[in-house]
Amino acid sequence: MTWETIIGLEIHAQLSTESKIFCGCATRFGDEPNANTCPVCLGLPGALPVLNRRAVELGARAALALGLHINQQSIFARKNYFYPDLPKGYQISQYDQPFSANGELEIMTAERDEAGHPLEWRPKKIRITRLHLEEDAGKNVHEGLPEVDRYSYIDLNRAGVPLAEIVTEPDFRSSWEAYDYVNHVRRSLQWVGASDADMEKGNLRCEANVSVRRAGEDKFGTKVELKNLNSVRFMQRAIEFEVARHIQVLESGGRLAQETRLWDDRAMETRVMRSKEEAHDYRYFPEPDLPPLIVSSEFIESVRQEMPELPESRRNRFIQEYDLSFADASQLISERSLADYFEDTVKTCGNARGAANWIRSELLRELEAAGLSAAESPVAPEKLGALIRLIDEGKISGKQGKDVLVEMFKTGKNADAIITEQGLVQLSDTGEIDSLIDEVIAANPDPLASYRAGKETLFGFFVGQVIKASKGKANPKIVNERLRAKLKG
Ligand SMILES: [Zn+2]
Repeated sequence: MTWETIIGLEIHAQLSTESKIFCGCATRFGDEPNANTCPVCLGLPGALPVLNRRAVELGARAALALGLHINQQSIFARKNYFYPDLPKGYQISQYDQPFSANGELEIMTAERDEAGHPLEWRPKKIRITRLHLEEDAGKNVHEGLPEVDRYSYIDLNRAGVPLAEIVTEPDFRSSWEAYDYVNHVRRSLQWVGASDADMEKGNLRCEANVSVRRAGEDKFGTKVELKNLNSVRFMQRAIEFEVARHIQVLESGGRLAQETRLWDDRAMETRVMRSKEEAHDYRYFPEPDLPPLIVSSEFIESVRQEMPELPESRRNRFIQEYDLSFADASQLISERSLADYFEDTVKTCGNARGAANWIRSELLRELEAAGLSAAESPVAPEKLGALIRLIDEGKISGKQGKDVLVEMFKTGKNADAIITEQGLVQLSDTGEIDSLIDEVIAANPDPLASYRAGKETLFGFFVGQVIKASKGKANPKIVNERLRAKLKG
């Protein structure tokens, strides 16, 4: 019996405004609890909300970055429920006339092998039910304060922070599709500056609705809602865990309950948070204190004009303009600062392939080890470009270049300065290279005999030995030429 996995996702992304969506309080993270509050976000009687224009601009950026249509009119609505972190007793959200509805976006996705490496990348269309604007609730605090076993504490700094909620249709068929989608959305929002989209700080939150059904069936199975997914990887694992649990329960003749479950990343399992027996009735009605939100086509056009070139368009341009592979171009657009870094490097060295290789292999390794983004790199793109030019001109070898880059990364010095300091020059003198080759050949009679007997794969061994004998200084092109002639005997 084969099973089909069905997943739908909801993302809440905090829009990167300075102030809250309906009042002037700061949205800063990490301030003293309740420092950033006022009568509006405290829900005091008589206080009136005023919509923050910047939140609408960033909401529009988010929608456009995802290729969604923006409705010229949307309506704010009250979503009524009681919870201690919701001082008004309702949340201002959008309901039947959201900011954007019935959209679709295309992601690139791939299943992964046992080691987590992508198999074959393919495009997949995901239907977006809606993207709407709303305010965040506050936070209950149960840790780090006196007598937390007796009291609940409430921090309302987050109450009223603007969010874009993005809801999909149940279109995902595997945990990796969901993983690739959340990364796509996160990157898109960061790219256009709509949201920091940092899951660890909680300014991008994700919930997954998961169910399974027997292959060929039309009816959906009982679904479970997963929360507390603090990273994209945890979300993927939580979905895998749930799918396996569902299949096991159903195959052993059991029944699943519709419930909300939390991911526990220490135990690596989900556990019940609450049952969904009593469905919420939020009694939505239009917010009487806010007029309909009207956005003109001029407004949308002006937002579009301010946006940078989007990642997918940039990837296609990299492939065409610089002759990069799909995989190389995809890696370079994984972050906007990295794509910028690449293009700035190309401008200096004029060698796109070289720039892509140096960034992907050498620079990213250093950045990762130092926990830095491309924008924070101690080696500016112009400096990397200059280094690549020196290698292309044959002044130093590629191998020396790697050491120079590590030194540049440590000291922030220019490649030129390091090369002078360390007396690095590429050995291109054929006479000196010839004598190194003679030494290597004399020291390796057995490999030489095998090579001459037809084992040509040993050529690489000899090249390696000569380069090593030159302490990495020998020009590999010359070594190749001279060695081939000498090995013939
Ligand atoms: Zn306020």
